[in-house]
Amino acid sequence: MSLTNRDLKVIWHPYTQMKTALPPIPIVRGEGACLFDENGKKYIDAVSSWWVNIHGHAHPYIAQKVSEQLKKLEHVIFAGFTHEGAVELAERLLEILPNNQQKVFYSDNGSTAVEVAIKMCLQYWHNNGENRTKIIAFKNAYHGDTFGAMAVSGRSAFTAAFDSLLFEVEFIDLPDAANIKSLKSHISNLTSETACFIFEPLVQGAGGMLMYEAQYLNELMAHCRKEGILMIADEVFTGFGRTGKSFASNHVTEQPDIMCFSKGLTGGTMALGLTTCTQQVFDAFLSDDRLKTLFHGHSFTANPVAISAALASLDLFLDASTTENIKRIENAHGQFARKIKDHPKVKTIRQTGTILAMEWQTGSDTSYFNSLRDSLYRYFLEAGIILRPLGNTIYILPPYCITNEELDCVYSKIEQALEEI
Ligand SMILES: *Cc1c(COP(=O)(O)O)cnc(C)c1O
Repeated sequence: MSLTNRDLKVIWHPYTQMKTALPPIPIVRGEGACLFDENGKKYIDAVSSWWVNIHGHAHPYIAQKVSEQLKKLEHVIFAGFTHEGAVELAERLLEILPNNQQKVFYSDNGSTAVEVAIKMCLQYWHNNGENRTKIIAFKNAYHGDTFGAMAVSGRSAFTAAFDSLLFEVEFIDLPDAANIKSLKSHISNLTSETACFIFEPLVQGAGGMLMYEAQYLNELMAHCRKEGILMIADEVFTGFGRTGKSFASNHVTEQPDIMCFSKGLTGGTMALGLTTCTQQVFDAFLSDDRLKTLFHGHSFTANPVAISAALASLDLFLDASTTENIKRIENAHGQFARKIKDHPKVKTIRQTGTILAMEWQTGSDTSYFNSLRDSLYRYFLEAGIILRPLGNTIYILPPYCITNEELDCVYSKIEQALEEI
């Protein structure tokens, strides 16, 4: 029996309507920005395998470091024990993060990094004896699929089956020149009950690659700072170069209290999540009273193998060639955007750093379930390009090692699609 058929018998895939989905494609190997299926067909991974891959697939340097670590120490309980990699990664990350970040809490993935951040904020106020439990988030936000992370995400088709069970969140519009004043006064009205404000800085990924200006985010952050509202920057997607700077938070001068990371953290090699916080947040949990402890932990907290992948990925990330690649992709995206922006089928096109998103003109509303989505997905797949449109929004966010030839191949296929679909 083929692997696809064996899969169809026993597997339930993520974000997949199993009745109508195309059969899954068995991938046997990856190299650079490309994946290869069992028949040797090559696919350009233009979405970095759900936004996680930054240095290319099966990177030999990461593979070597992971393999060395596996032979030394695969795992150790992280309560009461520590290990070299966990400390080194924390030291090296705090070195390059906004300088108010002082402590690192490890978990398993982006959703758990967000859960930890939310619990830190809620318990911060609880430990300080203040009843502040409201959370402010942006409309169309996406912060993950576990219940807390889902609650602070915009209400959508993804959450519909659970809406009545999700805790209440104050959802506000993305800030711009027109609404910034009213957003600030709205926040002021909520200050006395608000624990924190959580946001994806500059780009809302799963919400449809929606982008907003650093200037207004900065203003909103400054306002929260003034009001004493804790801020969580969810950089699970935007971290590690995606927006053109190391972290999206580097585009603003205000600093968040808490930051969340995953996805690119291990170069896309393994699951690892990480939540950082300020000394002030950390200190609110220091007490002789055991009840003030942050009671949170996962079996695989700070897994040494995942951390060895993160350390290797960080080495590659800090290499000058990665910065050059990010610049190169930014420039190429910009040129391509200028070239096609006036095409009648291009409704909007927008870019932040290495992320390029375009909305296809459909005549109907932009939505995740737009039927155009399936046609586009299949069209590019047949052409050997993995693009996974969010509704009628196509986006390209490749591993930074993608070659100019591969980028050109993706661009020209999009141009061809504009004529043919
Ligand atoms: C993907 C994502 C998450 C969730 O991460 P998982 O590892 O998939 O749980 C959280 N926040 C943002 C901004 C994301 O893009």
